[in-house]
Amino acid sequence: MKLWALRCGDLHTDVAGLLAGQPRGVMGDVPVMCFAVDTGDGVLVFDTGMHESCCGPDAAAHFGSMWTTFELRCPRRALVDERLRQAGCSVDEVRWVVNSHLHFDHAGRNAAFPAATQYVRARELVWARERAKVPSGVLAGDLAELNAPDWDYDVEFDLAPGLRLISTPGHTPGHQALHVTFGDGLGYVCVGDAAYTLQAVLDHRPTGRTTSVDQATESLRKLTALDAQILTAHDIDQWRGVVDVAMIHAT
Ligand SMILES: [Zn+2]
Repeated sequence: MKLWALRCGDLHTDVAGLLAGQPRGVMGDVPVMCFAVDTGDGVLVFDTGMHESCCGPDAAAHFGSMWTTFELRCPRRALVDERLRQAGCSVDEVRWVVNSHLHFDHAGRNAAFPAATQYVRARELVWARERAKVPSGVLAGDLAELNAPDWDYDVEFDLAPGLRLISTPGHTPGHQALHVTFGDGLGYVCVGDAAYTLQAVLDHRPTGRTTSVDQATESLRKLTALDAQILTAHDIDQWRGVVDVAMIHAT
C-alpha cells in the first residue's frame, strides 16, 4: 500500500483569518492538501481540492465570494487528477473518492474521477445544499457535479482493509476523516478540516468557523486517541517542503 500527499494549489490569504494565533495582516500561502492511497486493488482519493475553473477566465463566476476572500493559486498541474498522475497513478485506477466535507477547497474536482464511487455523507449533502443557497464556502457549482449515492454512517465505516472513515463532525455536520493502517502497523489519519493546524488538532482547539464547537472538540479528541500520525489539510509548516507530490509511506 502507498500513501501520498498531494499539494493541490494554495489559498493566498491573510492567514490570521484562517489560523488562530497568527498576527493580523500577514499574507501567506495556505496549502490545499489532498491525499491518495494505492491499495494495490484500487486507488482512494481523499478530498479533491478546487474546481478546474480556478485555472481559467471564468473563475469568479464559479467561486463567487470565495474568489475575493482568497486568492486561489492553482495552476492546472496542481489539480488533484494532475497531481495523481504525477504520483504515478491514473484516474482510471481510482475506485473511491472520499470528501472530508463539501467546502470548495475539498470537493471541487470529484468529476475528474467518473469511474469512482463518491463517499459523501448524506447529512453533509443535506447541510451543504442549504448552505450553497447563500454566499459561502459551499459552491452550488461544485455540488452540481457530485455524483454520490445515498450513504451515511454514525461512528465509523470500513471502506476496505486498512481504510476506515471516521465521523468527525463540528467543522461541518457530516465531516469525516480517513484512518489509513499499513501492514507494518503504521497508522496515518487525514483529518480534513477537523482543525487547520497540527498544533490545533493536538490541543483539541477547533479553528475557523464551526457548525458546532462541542462536536469539533470531541472530534479532535477522537482523532488524537488514534494510534496514527496526523496529516492536516492546511498546516503551512507541515507541508512547507511539499510543492507537488510527496510519498508519505509505502509497504
Ligand atoms: Zn479547507
